[in-house]
Amino acid sequence: MPSPLSSSAPARPHAPFAFPVAARYAGMESSPLKDIFALAARPDVVSFAGGIPDPSLFALADIAECYDHVLRLHGSRALQYGQSEGELELREQAARRLSRDLPTSAEQIRITSGSQEGLFVAAEALLETGDVVLVESPTYLAAVQAFAVHGARMVGVQTDEHGVLPDALDRAIRTHRPKLVYLIPTFQNPTGRTMPQERREQVAEVLLRHDVPLIEDDPYGELSFDGSRHRPIAALPGMSERTLLMKSMSKLMSPGVRIGWIRAEGPILQTLAVAKAAISMQSSVVDQLTVARYLEAKDLDAHVASVTGIYRERRDALAGALAPILPAGAHITDPEGGMFLWASLGEAYDAQAMLADAVAAGVAYLPGWSFFAENPDRSSMRLSFVTHSPEVIRAAAGRLGEVIAQHG
Ligand code: PMP
Repeated sequence: MPSPLSSSAPARPHAPFAFPVAARYAGMESSPLKDIFALAARPDVVSFAGGIPDPSLFALADIAECYDHVLRLHGSRALQYGQSEGELELREQAARRLSRDLPTSAEQIRITSGSQEGLFVAAEALLETGDVVLVESPTYLAAVQAFAVHGARMVGVQTDEHGVLPDALDRAIRTHRPKLVYLIPTFQNPTGRTMPQERREQVAEVLLRHDVPLIEDDPYGELSFDGSRHRPIAALPGMSERTLLMKSMSKLMSPGVRIGWIRAEGPILQTLAVAKAAISMQSSVVDQLTVARYLEAKDLDAHVASVTGIYRERRDALAGALAPILPAGAHITDPEGGMFLWASLGEAYDAQAMLADAVAAGVAYLPGWSFFAENPDRSSMRLSFVTHSPEVIRAAAGRLGEVIAQHG
């Protein structure tokens, strides 16, 4: 007699349940950035792969004081829902900082949970499936991802050591009729290159002539090794109304607080607030008020100056250690700020194929191919110099040199 609980039907073999994933996410199971964080977490590997600030340089005591201040004085507000546009104190501080280069009011600021969300919010507000986005070749891969999951097609535009080539941009606009152009003009990710003023003006002229909007992503601009400031393209005549300028506190204060902002003008501000509300209501109020307090009460510029002094030494250590170990004909950028150095080893090399040997030797980098929308340079690699001390950098670069020599 079968128990009333046991079924008399034979067990049906069935495949494990799989959600019907949206086509735009097919083949995107693992973000390349997730793999970086996994590599960087391995204690036996010195990773040049991620743009990960050195945690020993965080202004921990100052930030703790600001959290404490906010929770003590504005606790109930800080722990409550807030506004999709962002908290006024932070928008005022953001506007004050931006106004050094481009007159900005608090109303023109939308707070985001880091620039990554800024890119997603902008994509959400602007992109339709099939739209073309013109990007530098190479460009920041997680921006490409944020645009791609909104159905956009990325087209890479040729660059030189001064950034995107105005003629190539002009041709690409005429050929592809893009919805927008995405650029990182200062201390670019992944190359570390900076667009000089004259090039910015040429690029602006092309964008104005074709009436194409710009997303100008600037998380690194303040990390200048000689203290010089590069005014955003958004500050050029006619450009502020057609540019979404993205800023982030991640590289200046802390990536963990997840605070950034978009500067915009006109009706798009309303659309950005609606998109932000649909995605996440608003960014963390306690984090926003704390960052506002930090910007008001502490000296971010002094902090950034001391951090960039250290980053400069590390840039020197990495560039100096790489110069003798790179093969003849290799190219390496000479960043004047930011976090990254870009090496292109030459045709004989495949940086992706070499990575396993590098990791086995205790050193990681990011293969460059993933930063290209098309026609990748497979011999290229991105190396971040900010995370480790000069001694650690030199030792790891030596091990990388041995791996490169074996693959030559
Ligand atoms: N844009 C660029 C060019 C970046 O390099 C990064 C971080 N690596 C981001 C946006 C996103 O940074 P966050 O979300 O931490 O502000």
